[in-house]
Amino acid sequence: MVSPFAPSTRHLAWGRVHRCTHSVSRPRGVAEARAALAARGHRSLLPYGLGRSYGDCCLNPDGLLLETRGLDRLLSFDAERGIVHCEAGVSLADLLVTVVGRPAPDGGVWFLPVTPGTRFVTVGGAIANDVHGKNHETAGSFGHHLIDLLLLRSDGTIVRCAHDENADLFRATIGGLGLTGLILEARLQLVSVPSLWLENEDLRFEDLEGFFRLAEDSRGWTYTVAWIDCLARGRSLGRGIFSRARHLNDRRPPPPAPRPPRVTVPFDPPISPLNPLTLRLFNTLFYHRLGRRGRRVGVMPFDRVLYPLDGLAEWNRLYGPRGFFQYQCVVPPDGAFSTIARLLETIARTKQGSFLAVLKTLGDRPAPGLLSFPMHGVTLALDFPNRGQPTLALMDALDDIVLAAGGRLYPAKDGRVPAQVFRAGYPLWKRFAELKDPAFSSAFWRRVGEEETAPATERPA
Ligand SMILES: Cc1cc2nc3c(=O)[nH]c(=O)nc-3n(C[C@H](O)[C@H](O)[C@H](O)COP(=O)(O)OP(=O)(O)OC[C@H]3O[C@@H](n4cnc5c(N)ncnc54)[C@H](O)[C@@H]3O)c2cc1C
Repeated sequence: MVSPFAPSTRHLAWGRVHRCTHSVSRPRGVAEARAALAARGHRSLLPYGLGRSYGDCCLNPDGLLLETRGLDRLLSFDAERGIVHCEAGVSLADLLVTVVGRPAPDGGVWFLPVTPGTRFVTVGGAIANDVHGKNHETAGSFGHHLIDLLLLRSDGTIVRCAHDENADLFRATIGGLGLTGLILEARLQLVSVPSLWLENEDLRFEDLEGFFRLAEDSRGWTYTVAWIDCLARGRSLGRGIFSRARHLNDRRPPPPAPRPPRVTVPFDPPISPLNPLTLRLFNTLFYHRLGRRGRRVGVMPFDRVLYPLDGLAEWNRLYGPRGFFQYQCVVPPDGAFSTIARLLETIARTKQGSFLAVLKTLGDRPAPGLLSFPMHGVTLALDFPNRGQPTLALMDALDDIVLAAGGRLYPAKDGRVPAQVFRAGYPLWKRFAELKDPAFSSAFWRRVGEEETAPATERPA
């Protein structure tokens, strides 16, 4: 029989390290999704949103990708209660121009309760990675605001999942990495905020202690995050810039809707401009950008604060043809200072620094999903250009420090974590494996979740 699915090598993850071939289907509704399931043959299945995951949780080599951008209908919006009902391929960028900013009954405006650092993710992808934002301490993660969802299983059944219905499957699907089935629709609770303008402050800090002090002093701020100069060593270890923001409490006219990115990286440069020399220059300039006062205050539209990277489309191409890894871990609050110091020392020693090194505290709300990444503590996220073995060896060394501290790694950002490291960080993984749909799989899951007898996935070169 001739396959109804076109093979594609076009579907990459954001880090662009893994290259593989998929069969692809782009259903525009339940009937087409069911038809794709029926015609899949022996192929395993995996949903694919906007491919903003960095590693291989959105890749399914030689399997069938169910691309969800055809599931793009906003089904209803309850303006009284702030409840959005939409198909799972709707993006957060779509919600920002359709429902965000609409008046709420308390005089405020409706806003996304949680958003990651890019608005170009789908609702399905945000659920499947249970994404968190700069407001995790007060708002928790995306799954905390999910009312219910409709899940299409590989046998063609559609299951409604909520806290009071199929609750186990609901907990498995939040942060479930697309492995419990295809999310068709979801209902999300928005929050009311006083305005779409953010009052924000950037503050330079001279060392890691400075970060922890500012994190403690910033309890009254909604959004907090810090950039770290990960090349700094000795007394400057952990120096950086702390950013905090909150919704402005005045009634000025709303800012213009976020604009599409004005600049695009149009092709893969044959040699990456991001090298040790430009990294050192960038880090020094960025660290000193606040001038002698080391502090800058302002009022900005929310998108300038929450999505600084969205201004440059396809910036991931700047890492060149070999791509890059992101490494994101979280470690518990007890001992976090010394663990983060050890991680930063290890990175600085190898001189394999990162342009985007982000440090942030996470709150103590219990996670909504069996495999949710966020937990109480401090999270560090870094981008490493892919230099092959030395980069993999560095990340292995970081794994040892994270595991010894009782921490874990973020699957949305990962493309190489070994099974034992994943399993140690996610003690509920076996319970999850029982609830997973047997026909759904991914490169990530084949590496970390399948039994020891499964052939090991090759490490990326
Ligand atoms: C610049 C940038 C900044 C980021 N910042 C953050 C951040 O601050 N916090 C954070 O938590 N994450 C962050 N991320 C990661 C990103 O939010 C997640 O990887 C998100 O899941 C990507 O969504 P997507 O729609 O692109 O899904 P994809 O990357 O395509 O897929 C992600 C997972 O979701 C599954 N999936 C997708 N759609 C469905 C569906 N309909 N049903 C079931 N499963 C589905 C896929 O199978 C896959 O396992 C960032 C990413 C980028 C590129």
